[in-house]
Amino acid sequence: MTRDYRGDVRCVIDDAGTLEESTSYYPYGMPHGTGLVASVQPYKYTGKELDRETGLDWYDSQARMLDPATVRTTTMDPMCEKYYPMSPYLWCGGNPVKHTDKNGMDYHVECNENNREYTIKAIFYVFQDDLYSAKESIDFWNKLSGQYRINDYYVKFDLSYSVVDHASSNNPSKTSMLRYKVDNDDSGMANSYQIVADTDKRLKSEQNGKTIDGKKILVRDSQSKTMTGAHEIGHAIGLVHNRSVHALMYECSSERLNNQVFHDEILQIINNAKAGKPSFEKKDNEFNYAGKILIFFDNNIHFVVNDKYI
Ligand SMILES: [Zn+2]
Repeated sequence: MTRDYRGDVRCVIDDAGTLEESTSYYPYGMPHGTGLVASVQPYKYTGKELDRETGLDWYDSQARMLDPATVRTTTMDPMCEKYYPMSPYLWCGGNPVKHTDKNGMDYHVECNENNREYTIKAIFYVFQDDLYSAKESIDFWNKLSGQYRINDYYVKFDLSYSVVDHASSNNPSKTSMLRYKVDNDDSGMANSYQIVADTDKRLKSEQNGKTIDGKKILVRDSQSKTMTGAHEIGHAIGLVHNRSVHALMYECSSERLNNQVFHDEILQIINNAKAGKPSFEKKDNEFNYAGKILIFFDNNIHFVVNDKYI
């Protein structure tokens, strides 16, 4: 399957390289231009299943069904109280080109009322060679468990990794192997962590690391034993830069990262999850969103914002 930026399944190609299916979409998911070849599988718009068996042609979005013909959902948004200015039947806030609604967030926040605990969960796909750095960076966050209290809830970090075997794919590009793992992970918590050569062109000379789409982390080789990895994980779980104090989330082009994470930053992660809004900041006249947003609370799924973070 070949997908576009929104996760739409555009082509299906078999092992021999023969095109089996090709689909284009109207903004709300109605297929068009499908005359080339027949449909061989049901997953279409943003990778969701188009339910043709009932004859209704709705997309199953878990929390709600989307009817691409009438460009609305068939039931009310379970989170509508948080978005009262919008219609509860609106899809992606009325902007399905920019936003998608898929179970593809890169972190979860779980709220346990009984234990009075918030758990921040995420998974990082990593190659064995890069594991030493990824583990250090992940451990940094996990060790913060229990140190913060937000509204009488303790905050626990449950970040984990999954090793990707080099030999498991014929794909020559290491980055695309990781991207494949992340894009095909249905947990909704998938990120990647990769060490890249100091000369890698994806990093500008002043950048020690970068987080693409709020979840694909690149760390410069010479920075693999510094706080850069933990800083990038901070972006992946929803933090923006702090520009005033030398701390973990100080701008990464600086050498002045240290292990300080502020209470307000943890609050920001939790509040993002509750409100379904990512943190963002304006840089070089572009808005950069941290974390890949999720609008996910009590298992209800809302839209996801894609952007890069450096
Ligand atoms: Zn940064």
